[in-house]
Amino acid sequence: MSMLTRRQFVQVGSIAAAGLLAGCGSSGSDAADAAPQAADGEYTVVNEGKLTCISNLFFPPFESMNETTGDPEGFDIDVSKSLAEHLGLEVNWLPSQDFDTLVPTIKNGGKADIAIAGMTITDARQAEVDMSDPYVDSNQSIVVKAGSTETAESLDDASKTIAVQGGTTGADWADENLPNATKKRLSTIIDAMSGVQSGLYDAVVCDLPVSRYQIKMSYSDLEIIEEIPTGEQYGIAISKDNPGLTAAINAALAEMQEDGSMAAIEAEWFGSEL
Ligand code: GLN
Repeated sequence: MSMLTRRQFVQVGSIAAAGLLAGCGSSGSDAADAAPQAADGEYTVVNEGKLTCISNLFFPPFESMNETTGDPEGFDIDVSKSLAEHLGLEVNWLPSQDFDTLVPTIKNGGKADIAIAGMTITDARQAEVDMSDPYVDSNQSIVVKAGSTETAESLDDASKTIAVQGGTTGADWADENLPNATKKRLSTIIDAMSGVQSGLYDAVVCDLPVSRYQIKMSYSDLEIIEEIPTGEQYGIAISKDNPGLTAAINAALAEMQEDGSMAAIEAEWFGSEL
């Protein structure tokens, strides 16, 4: 592990001009001594000089693997690259893992610095890890075969199978709101959608931006029968042992909003939809 000092980012993000002046104008340690915030600017990374990222890479357009190269690509991948740039680090992506292993991996430490995975900020997750400030708004959706007569009411029946991705807010929503239906927990939303397409499952509950994108790009024979305004927000998961990194990520996210990097990534992956 290496210890980096990114004092400047904390100052830019939190105490703005006063902090910058103190940092730049001082030739000795007075300014640092006078600024209790300085310790916030220190963080560790698991691989020196790199921002090491994990995700479940089957969640387009937020994350997937390029069909030819196999490299990670998507909204979150571009966000991770921009974050790394803003932090003066190189981005380092690890292989895909199941969504429900991401928070435990970050909590255990040592493998990755951040999980960036279209991950909703929830109290349960915040009890385990730090979540960054929100960077995307999201909602849930119910997806069925196009032309099906199913409704949220008809699906809440033991004879119906609802496919969800394990450990997600979509799975939680289905448990709470379709208690009578049979739930099938899968590793990826792609498996869930393909299963609805082939008639294996009656419906899938998943994040609306993902179902919209998937139907448009790959599953024209599926349709959304209900948009559910859960008001979710995505955040980035960081170890509670590394609060300086959370501060630095939040400062970088704020800069990305200001300097147009986030708008460019939104335009790239969602056009005007976000
Ligand atoms: N936003 C949902 C959640 O956090 C789904 C995330 C995902 O499947 N990658 O649970």
